[in-house]
Amino acid sequence: QRIGVPRETFPLEKRVATVPDVVEKLIKLGFKVAVESGAGEAANFSDDAYRAAGAEIIDGAAALWAASDIVFKVRPPSPDEVGLMREGGMLIDFIWPAQHPELMQQLAARKATVLAIDCLPRTLSRAQKMDALTSTAGVSGYRAVIEAANAFGRYFNGQITAAGKVPPAKVFIAGAGVAGLAAIGTAANLGAIVRANDTRAEVADQVKSLGGEFVKVDYEEDGAGGGGYAKVMSEGFQAAQRQMYAQQAKDADIIITTALIPGKPAPKLITAEMVQSMKPGSVIVDMAAEQGGNCELTVPGEAVVRHGVTIIGYTDLASRLAKQSSTLYATNLLRLTEELCKAKDGLAIVNMEDDAIRGLTVIKDGAITWPAPPLKQA
Ligand code: NAD
Repeated sequence: QRIGVPRETFPLEKRVATVPDVVEKLIKLGFKVAVESGAGEAANFSDDAYRAAGAEIIDGAAALWAASDIVFKVRPPSPDEVGLMREGGMLIDFIWPAQHPELMQQLAARKATVLAIDCLPRTLSRAQKMDALTSTAGVSGYRAVIEAANAFGRYFNGQITAAGKVPPAKVFIAGAGVAGLAAIGTAANLGAIVRANDTRAEVADQVKSLGGEFVKVDYEEDGAGGGGYAKVMSEGFQAAQRQMYAQQAKDADIIITTALIPGKPAPKLITAEMVQSMKPGSVIVDMAAEQGGNCELTVPGEAVVRHGVTIIGYTDLASRLAKQSSTLYATNLLRLTEELCKAKDGLAIVNMEDDAIRGLTVIKDGAITWPAPPLKQA
């Protein structure tokens, strides 16, 4: 079978679904690989590099899609792209089926088989190597700190210089999941004083191991909502949490928010009043901007200044580190392809008896198979 990798068409998207090193490995599994001319350009992978790895370069999206039995992509396909897809073809991609019911119908009408990388059952330890949500969140958390440092007018680390003593920056991280933990590690490595909070008490040790201090809300309630994710908290908890966050906002130079609850709008944790209480020149990076934002004053996709505080709501943080995120994503898809092609004969087989593959498969030969039944051990 031939795996095809088109150039991403979503505005500002710089990532690409495979990289030259991974092309070589896909070919070793028995596949042919075709890459649309220019697909890797924005992530610093040239056509020549793909060619040297054994890929065929094809001009134009229409020819690429037509030549591909399996398409690897990053962003969900546009209606135009679905129109280019081969009838009965396979697509491996971020899909977010709950948010895109029309796309699901269009793909089903093409009699497609679709593996949605965002539907991977992440709690299966066997699935970790394929977990593109985790690798993407890790890159984004790192980049959030870099964006904050770029907008902040001071050092992150404390220094004693001939020109005087410089205090370390104080960073507060709201939400210590995958992205939050990456941000904690990065900010601590830059020398900042890092504090973090999460509604799930179980993350406290992870925060500490990365060099942060876990700050508890003074209210007895745990936020674990099943599957490692958070739940919506009680009114009482939320009030206590607002009080604690108000204190942290006054003290912090940088706030990075990452709090999400599956299927719900992002909790509003940073109020306009808290922003106003921050020191001028402080920075907020709201990683939940696309899901409505954790801060009341966030403008999704933009950096704005409110009350002297820069509030960054970029929704393309992973794409801003395109080479790194593409490399990790390509490796996640390689691991998935190895699972689909155990015989190493260049044929992908979707085994619906395999829990990980079953979870990912949202459309099989034109039949919608999403949502997958819950995992037996869950
Ligand atoms: P996420 O992006 O859904 O949420 C980010 C964080 O925000 C979570 O830690 C959540 O608890 C926190 N949060 C939600 N509401 C909040 C509030 N009101 N105040 C403060 N914090 C709040 O989560 P994620 O980063 O995708 O990861 C979620 C979980 O999945 C973690 O436990 C992670 O370890 C787990 N996970 C497990 C595996 C695995 O078992 N293989 C793989 C990946 C992730």
